Amino acid sequence: MINLIEKLYHTGDLTNAELKALIEDDSAEVSAHLAKRADEVRQKYYGKKVFLRGLIEISSYCKNDCLYCGIRRSNKSAERYRLDLSQIMECAENGYKLGFRTFVMQGGEDAFFTDEYICGIISELRKKFPDCAITLSLGERSAVGYRKMKAAGADRYLLRHETANEKLYQKLHPAEMSLDNRKNCLYNLIETGFQTGSGFMVGAPFQTTDDLISDIRFLQELQPHMIGIGPFIPHKDTPFKNEKGGTAELTLRLLGILRLMFPRVLLPATTALGTIAENGRTLGLKTGCNVIMPNLSPKEVRKKYNLYDNKLITGGEAAEGLALLKAEIEKAGYEVADERGDFVD
Ligand code: SAH
Repeated sequence: MINLIEKLYHTGDLTNAELKALIEDDSAEVSAHLAKRADEVRQKYYGKKVFLRGLIEISSYCKNDCLYCGIRRSNKSAERYRLDLSQIMECAENGYKLGFRTFVMQGGEDAFFTDEYICGIISELRKKFPDCAITLSLGERSAVGYRKMKAAGADRYLLRHETANEKLYQKLHPAEMSLDNRKNCLYNLIETGFQTGSGFMVGAPFQTTDDLISDIRFLQELQPHMIGIGPFIPHKDTPFKNEKGGTAELTLRLLGILRLMFPRVLLPATTALGTIAENGRTLGLKTGCNVIMPNLSPKEVRKKYNLYDNKLITGGEAAEGLALLKAEIEKAGYEVADERGDFVD
């Protein structure tokens, strides 16, 4: 197994059979070696820098019905809210003072947020924070809409493909959603000039190792600038409430592999990883991750933006706990970078 890691480190790729063996192996020694190599590669391109992205969760309304997600439209117990322009600006102002230079506006697919409305928010942020990157994570929208948002001043867009296996995609999503459409959106985003992020859930119901290999192959084809992966975590008010969640071990194994395959990619240690394992995000940083996305949303809405159970909300996760988070990052041997943290070509 160590020789597979060496091959991946030196050549940036493995065959499907090799990938399968490496993904399915679960020895701690292999994990440690993978982390060491992944860290070497991240340090080669990004040094010890960790980029912070301030997450502003702008709406919990969603017209979609993804079976895994706590804010799916069929979840009648979900509390719905949407932030208005002044609330969003206030989140960003607080974040700016704390040192954030990237704001990520994420939300459900809320029909209230028309292209024009979103562009209005982007223009305001652009005017007020010319030195910051504006990232959107608002789901599937038209190519025209993406172009308008780019023109209004947005820089980046996050849209996970979720799974690259059509059959699995169908099992995780309602009939009206399709993998083809999701992929089209991703290609449109790249073509529009967004720094684009994609990714998938680890340990989603029915997911096999072959599915994970398809995810990796799709990412190799797409060549995104950012890759977001995190464990699937069941939500109590969804059809998947009794399914098993993904593990931190498998998530870390994939993070290490991704760093070796995509040396320059921006790779977050996600909140979901931090939620299922005590020091999940620190382990992520030590396995090639170089981004953390603390929450800048108003405190009273954080519980309502509930994609999965027990979301990490206090301490180092929340933006106010930034000192704690910085200490955690420094203890792990890295340093917080006070810059936009763009993809380096
Ligand atoms: N509406 C936007 C934002 C989705 S939320 C969009 O469609 O892109 C961001 C990510 O959270 C999703 O892409 C999904 O991968 C993840 N997510 C949703 N439910 C989850 C769950 N139960 N466990 C883990 N991750 C989940």
